[in-house]
Amino acid sequence: MDAWRILQESPATPLVAIPVPVATEKNIQLWIKRDDLLQIGDDQAFCGNKFRKLKYNLLAAREKGYDRLLTFGGAFSNHIVATASAGRWFGFQTIGVIRGHPPPDGNASLRYAKACGMQLHYVDRGAYREKTTDDFLLALRRQFGDYYLIPEGGSNTLALPGCKELGEELLRQCQVRPLYVALACGTGGVLAGLLQGLTGNVQVLGFSALKGSFLTAEVNKLLGPAASRLTNWHIQNDYHFGGFAKFTPELIHFINQFKRQYGIALDPIYTGKLLWGVLDLIEQNYFPAGAQIVAIHTGGLQGIRGFNERFGPLIDQTG
Ligand SMILES: *Cc1c(COP(=O)(O)O)cnc(C)c1O
Repeated sequence: MDAWRILQESPATPLVAIPVPVATEKNIQLWIKRDDLLQIGDDQAFCGNKFRKLKYNLLAAREKGYDRLLTFGGAFSNHIVATASAGRWFGFQTIGVIRGHPPPDGNASLRYAKACGMQLHYVDRGAYREKTTDDFLLALRRQFGDYYLIPEGGSNTLALPGCKELGEELLRQCQVRPLYVALACGTGGVLAGLLQGLTGNVQVLGFSALKGSFLTAEVNKLLGPAASRLTNWHIQNDYHFGGFAKFTPELIHFINQFKRQYGIALDPIYTGKLLWGVLDLIEQNYFPAGAQIVAIHTGGLQGIRGFNERFGPLIDQTG
């Protein structure tokens, strides 16, 4: 398999209809854009929105002659895992600067990253907050050698064009209007890129996986001068279930039920909360009759193993 070629071609992912009764009753069509199926390898590590965001960064790193990538993240980060996997597929050394102390027994995500050859460098929370300063980055260069820097979560300028392609692909697949596109957000990078590819009468809803209301400002920052032109979006701040990676028994039940009914696995951090939120808004008549709603499955399924390890086998992984 030629990983570079798959990266460059980014084969289109399926758009599948989800016949949920609450939508059908209201003459609304719900679709899932299976971007979780956009992957290299079959281990759900380099996939989904991490594929989209890393694409042009990896191409730039190669073009500039780097042989080492360095990035940042928490101990369960999908981005760390995706970068580690990218290192293996595309032939880069990788360094993951991890927030906090090494977990005593490790966890599935970190074990995976290590197995891919990633060097894990733990820094305490205080130092981690300084991670974008010149001093900190210079110290890392002294320790590890020169590297191509990818920020925490992977949301830099070069993350946007890959996500713009997702928007363009979606428009080719779905021509019925009014169209709503819903996606889970962490840093807002995917949302910012997606907006640039979605032209015409499309409303975009970002469901924040974190508590607070800072994401609107973050997305505007990422959009830069385009922010004044791109106003067809909105952040939903009510579906984080208590905060990042927090959950309730109802959410877990929903995720397992959804998989049994529609055959699509959702993760508890991002896409489970997204689908819950979309169905809740449909129920509340947020969308007009006749609407098409596309929920983007951004991936994240690698995190289920670590989640189950930590909290017990809550999420059904069979089938
Ligand atoms: C990282 C991630 C997100 C968040 O993407 P942002 O660009 O940071 O908003 C959403 N969904 C999944 C599955 C992710 O892994």
